[in-house]
Amino acid sequence: MTAVIHPLKVVHVEKLAPQIIQILMQAEHPITYASGQYIMLGFNSEDLKPFSIASAPREDGLIECHIRNLDDSEWMQALFAVQTGDHLVMQGPKDQMQLQPAHQPIIFVAGGTGFAPMKALLDSLLKQGTGVPVHFYWGARSVADLYQHDTMLALMQTHANMQYIPVISGEAELWNGLTGLVHEQVLQQHPNLEHTTVYMCGPWPMMQKAKLDFLAAEIDPIHLIC
Ligand SMILES: Cc1cc2nc3c(=O)[nH]c(=O)nc-3n(C[C@H](O)[C@H](O)[C@H](O)COP(=O)(O)OP(=O)(O)OC[C@H]3O[C@@H](n4cnc5c(N)ncnc54)[C@H](O)[C@@H]3O)c2cc1C
Repeated sequence: MTAVIHPLKVVHVEKLAPQIIQILMQAEHPITYASGQYIMLGFNSEDLKPFSIASAPREDGLIECHIRNLDDSEWMQALFAVQTGDHLVMQGPKDQMQLQPAHQPIIFVAGGTGFAPMKALLDSLLKQGTGVPVHFYWGARSVADLYQHDTMLALMQTHANMQYIPVISGEAELWNGLTGLVHEQVLQQHPNLEHTTVYMCGPWPMMQKAKLDFLAAEIDPIHLIC
């Protein structure tokens, strides 16, 4: 069966960091999606790449993505050149991860633009009015890559049960916060993960290493969602 291709119109593009853009897109026909899903995005049906949806379902129906220029390929350069009014296409949405019932402390671990699906899940969780402790760790190479730092600080002000912990792994001059690899900071502060649910998304090497280390910290594999 041929997968359905949906036409999209770009309604907003913004540079969030030197190598990261935000794109907001409107589908020709409304598309239903859930937090934690991703889409296959591109210029034509032959060459689509996966990007997470970066928000809980929005009232205006727009689809938001945060995209890092990973490889400077021709495809990526073309995507970074798109402007309001341009047209793209997508397949999906497709399942990546889903919010589980919240009955124990929750830790989100976002690496780089892996922030996008973590933020979408966080938004949905907070909308549910959960009372469990929520720790949101965001690891980035540089302070500039914490592209929604102020939004996260503001969320922490309005949700007493939520803590936001940014961690810088690269050049950290003029940074007073935590440094190093984000999952190692998680373990520093939570050495035992037996009664914790962890949601995680980030670059492949981080996922591989963090999975092993979290399992060694006794997380129940069904509560490690990535
Ligand atoms: C289904 C799917 C959806 C995707 N969605 C998106 C998307 O929405 N946007 C997008 O740009 N790309 C997406 N990708 C591509 C890819 O997953 C991302 O490029 C990646 O997660 C982003 O990492 P980064 O380069 O921003 O992280 P980096 O800036 O390289 O790293 C961020 C943090 O990860 C940790 N880390 C990095 N390397 C290691 C290591 N070796 N060991 C331990 N920790 C480490 C560090 O704490 C670091 O600060 C997607 C891929 C798939 C398959």
